[in-house]
Amino acid sequence: MSRKELDELKQQIPLRDYLEALAWRPTRRLSRGRWMELCPLHDDHQPSFLMDPSKNLFYCYGCGRGGDVIRFAEIYHQVHFPQALALLRQWRGLEPLLQQAAGFYRMQLHRHTAAVAYLHQRGLRSPELIEHMQIGYAPGGCLRGWLTQLGYPLQLLRQAGLVTAAGYDAYAHRIVFPLKGNLYGRSLSAAAPPHRFLWGSKGGLYRWEQVRRYPELILVEVLFDYALLWQAGFHQVTCSLGTHLNTRQFQQLSDGTAHRVSRL
Ligand SMILES: [Zn+2]
Repeated sequence: MSRKELDELKQQIPLRDYLEALAWRPTRRLSRGRWMELCPLHDDHQPSFLMDPSKNLFYCYGCGRGGDVIRFAEIYHQVHFPQALALLRQWRGLEPLLQQAAGFYRMQLHRHTAAVAYLHQRGLRSPELIEHMQIGYAPGGCLRGWLTQLGYPLQLLRQAGLVTAAGYDAYAHRIVFPLKGNLYGRSLSAAAPPHRFLWGSKGGLYRWEQVRRYPELILVEVLFDYALLWQAGFHQVTCSLGTHLNTRQFQQLSDGTAHRVSRL
């Protein structure tokens, strides 16, 4: 791998995104946009892990280790440089994979009357809304075949959480909403657990880029509430996907614009 390719890989994988996917949550903000938090590389009790998102570098005052995202992956996964690169490349490949899966689910929605009937029953009717939220349906078959045909190895599908250990679609019989770096699945059947996400972060506030310019925002906890409001013409709505805001979501709300937020 050339120097240029290495730099590209590092650019495509912001250290902060990688850390957050490993459930690292920065809480102490320092000057110049840097963050201090518990070190994920050793048993840390006092925040000693300094992360600089603008430089894409970390340093731990506890264990004395530091470097870029590749160095982090080496230490964290206890692998050598080439394996660390392979892991990072695989991680970078996840987003296109999720997009392919979401695209497959979208194609299925209108082929399954039970799925459309469920949406209607929840009040979601507008084709513009379904297009806007890219709502899909997981019929339970064919996803694995579709994705492996596109060249994604089964092992990657399992690692991503799209396919169960037994090889079945993990979102079977769910309405699927694509998120950034994740998928939300709502079960049609009362017998299955109602909500499903992939491992890792649920991401920031839903469709934040589209609402951040509004001085007044409506914040809801549930995507179906988002859908109903959006459908009714309230486009300044966003969703936290749960009762608690994560760090990223807090930061988004306090990004410098004085948002007036109504919680519904
Ligand atoms: Zn450390």
